[in-house]
Amino acid sequence: MLIVQTATDGQGKRLTTTTAIQRSQVFHQIVDYTPALIRTYTSVQNTAESSIEEFFLAHLNHHCNPNVVVDTARMELRAIRDISPGEDLTFFYPSTEWEMAEPFACLCGDNKCLKTISGAKDISLNVLGNYFINRHIGIMALEHLLGAEPVLRPVAA
Ligand SMILES: [Zn+2]
Repeated sequence: MLIVQTATDGQGKRLTTTTAIQRSQVFHQIVDYTPALIRTYTSVQNTAESSIEEFFLAHLNHHCNPNVVVDTARMELRAIRDISPGEDLTFFYPSTEWEMAEPFACLCGDNKCLKTISGAKDISLNVLGNYFINRHIGIMALEHLLGAEPVLRPVAA
């Protein structure tokens, strides 16, 4: 079962699991979502032109070495590796976000941490290739390479 906890340092919230999740297991279906009319720090981009808001996604934090895939084509969350009860669930924000509404300095502590997370547009294809990325991000990255700027929804003021 997925639960949202306030982080121990009091900084924001974290999504965790009360039960073990096995590698490759689909453990959540993204069903109860609403279209996001504007991009926010909690919205998740699900196509080149649209984003959604969903309770669990809103609390799923970023990590540069994540344990969860957000698959916006299948609308599901899958485990990248075995996850123990109580572990933070995290995903790679640029796997869904081309240009983030609110870029931030990553403090994940991984030795391959990308430091500034602002969306896939600022990451080389070489690095993106190390991650699961959603189809719309792959297409946008290729368009970007060819010089065509994708049209994005506006961000919250
Ligand atoms: Zn990081």
